[in-house]
Amino acid sequence: MKLTESVPSIAITNYKRTKIIATVGPSCDSYEQVRDIITSGANGLRLNFSHGDHEEHGQRIKWIRKASKELGKPVAIIQDLQGPKVRLGDFEGVINVTTGQPLQFKYKGEYEVGGPIPTQYDLSKKVKRGERLYLYDGKVRTTITSVDKERGIVHTRAENDGILIKRKGMNLPDTDFAGDIITEKDIRDLVYGSTQDIDYVALSFVQTAQDITDLHVRLKNLNSSARIIAKIETKAAVDNIEEIVEATDAVMVARGDLAVETPPESVPIVQRRIIALGMRYSKPTIVATQMLASMTDMPEPTRAEVSDVATAVLLGTDCVMLSDETASGKYPVEAVAFMKRIIKYTQDNQPLNVIYPDVEDHGRQGSISRAIISLADSIYATAIVAETLSGATALQISSRRTKVPVIAVTSDVRTLQQLAIVYNVKSYLRPVSANAAEKLTAWLRDNKVLNKGDIIVTVSGQYPGVVGTTDTIKVRALD
Ligand code: PGA
Ligand code: MN
Repeated sequence: MKLTESVPSIAITNYKRTKIIATVGPSCDSYEQVRDIITSGANGLRLNFSHGDHEEHGQRIKWIRKASKELGKPVAIIQDLQGPKVRLGDFEGVINVTTGQPLQFKYKGEYEVGGPIPTQYDLSKKVKRGERLYLYDGKVRTTITSVDKERGIVHTRAENDGILIKRKGMNLPDTDFAGDIITEKDIRDLVYGSTQDIDYVALSFVQTAQDITDLHVRLKNLNSSARIIAKIETKAAVDNIEEIVEATDAVMVARGDLAVETPPESVPIVQRRIIALGMRYSKPTIVATQMLASMTDMPEPTRAEVSDVATAVLLGTDCVMLSDETASGKYPVEAVAFMKRIIKYTQDNQPLNVIYPDVEDHGRQGSISRAIISLADSIYATAIVAETLSGATALQISSRRTKVPVIAVTSDVRTLQQLAIVYNVKSYLRPVSANAAEKLTAWLRDNKVLNKGDIIVTVSGQYPGVVGTTDTIKVRALD
């Protein structure tokens, strides 16, 4: 990528601090549509590997990078792996289910009335008697009564009346995948992703911190510099949440599956907890699914949806995410634009400050970040300009949710793009130099983004280009 040299058209204090991730799909499947999504406010684009083939994803990556370059706006690309998402197989028509009815499931196979229902995954290897098996987003609930390992048949009993339709999803809230959450398909997708310009890999149905550590090893072996987003959508992940947040690079509240695998009423509280933990460990957080769901078909969201987005912003999430709204909806650009309106209004009229869950951190980076923020606040700084190679310094400052904009200067394209989905950070690419922050500040002033008299706090290290050497804080009034 060329240096990011486009001059922002709005005042630096007027940027939206909470970022937007939009999912790319058939509804934004041209260069122009991808560009419009980015122009309307998307900072990250998610490629959903549950759908589409490598050719389609590759084409989208090219469009995103082209648009990002043309607009001079760094954008993060997220490869979202399908994971062990279990689905029903193919069958004709609708299967009616009544309470108490026995239902059998079998990997692949043809459906005959009354016989086992085909599935796209061999459940019999993982599940145990007594565990719950939910179908069709939890609309039909069953309990496993026995498992015939030899014939690969899972026997269950239905607990409510309902219907089943081919290819609908299945959820196994009690099943322990014992670290086996990456499927053959995910491995093929990861290998493909490692040949592409991808910034994050989102891991579905994470259960333990070990799942993240294993993926880190895989990515390293593939020479990938992508970071990991842990999708929290199982009960096990909620139980192990703190270790998972510590192990991962970023975390998503994947409310779609989470509200099936755990009680829906528990999701808002879990969402709060995850956002707070993200701040505490300096890991970006993403609130996902159904944020503006009605905009999939309608040009306006509901009051409840507007409130949902505003709540996530008030809680201090790094990102809010759109799924079907932009991937397959009728109003993809309008959905992004509406989300941006909600974010801007909420941040500009926010009556409360987020209470930062401080952490005992006497390390160099944490201590320096705390000092920078108290200094910048106290002196009414216009911006904090931080030199950062890995992005860690910018993440540490951002995670304390300062209102002072954080301008990150990096010489690493991957870091530039990864920081695009971090709260209140605007990243710029510049070559390694002894005074990159000062040069960037001068450039921003020459281009009227910053003004004479503005107070700037710069953060740098005496060994530019070496991770972990931040040691210098400077305060300057621009002349
Ligand atoms: P999905 O993940 O869209 O890949 O299922 C998000 C969620 O479950 O909310
Ligand atoms: Mn999911």
